[in-house]
Amino acid sequence: MSVNLSAYQSVLKELQPFAAALVAVSKVKPASDIRELYDAGQRIFGENYVQEMVDKQSQLPADIQWHFIGHLQSNKVKYIAPFVTMIHAVDSLKLLQEINKQAAKSNRVIYCLLQIHIAEEETKFGLDEAELMNLLNDYKTQAAAWPYVKIAGLMGMATNTDNLEQVRKEFAGLKTLHGKIKADFFADEPAFKELSMGMSGDYHLALEEGSTLVRIGSLLFGARIRP
Ligand SMILES: *Cc1c(COP(=O)(O)O)cnc(C)c1O
Repeated sequence: MSVNLSAYQSVLKELQPFAAALVAVSKVKPASDIRELYDAGQRIFGENYVQEMVDKQSQLPADIQWHFIGHLQSNKVKYIAPFVTMIHAVDSLKLLQEINKQAAKSNRVIYCLLQIHIAEEETKFGLDEAELMNLLNDYKTQAAAWPYVKIAGLMGMATNTDNLEQVRKEFAGLKTLHGKIKADFFADEPAFKELSMGMSGDYHLALEEGSTLVRIGSLLFGARIRP
């Protein structure tokens, strides 16, 4: 058994009172592992690499909802646009424009989350608050012309630290920003409701701070060995 089905069941139980959903992060794991969790009832899977997601999607049931959670280059959007449900780490207007263009070709709407930089680490991607405001002000002028993308919320990754108070503060800050953005830009947009935060090591805190989508990999699929 490669997939931890008892961890899966306990995560689902834990999510219930929060009405949050699970994105099972299956990057670098084989399609057979996804199939095992699919057979246990899971439908939302998250992947970080374009070619890998395309390969797996072609081998697995069509009712899987694929979430792309990695850093996405504009020139690769076309490969996933025919099937991807949600893209979690959007950080530029140019990328939104390209997603709209490629989604239009398949006559689909792709839900997008804007990635916010909440961690201390320099290496993590994402927008700061000023960049987010600029992006949204520009987006406002384009939104009507881009019907194939919908901004559905925000995503963030907390600092990788044992300092739980710091992690909690980062999640709480993202929740506050979400509320502000909702009020200022998306008050009339019911699709703007998602807050993607929390991974295997910090999802309990993320739920307490308002996460609606937790992205959990190693807890379900085991540790990853980097190629
Ligand atoms: C890999 C990854 C996850 C899952 O991490 P785990 O610690 O294995 O749960 C979540 N979010 C993103 C963006 C990732 O790249």
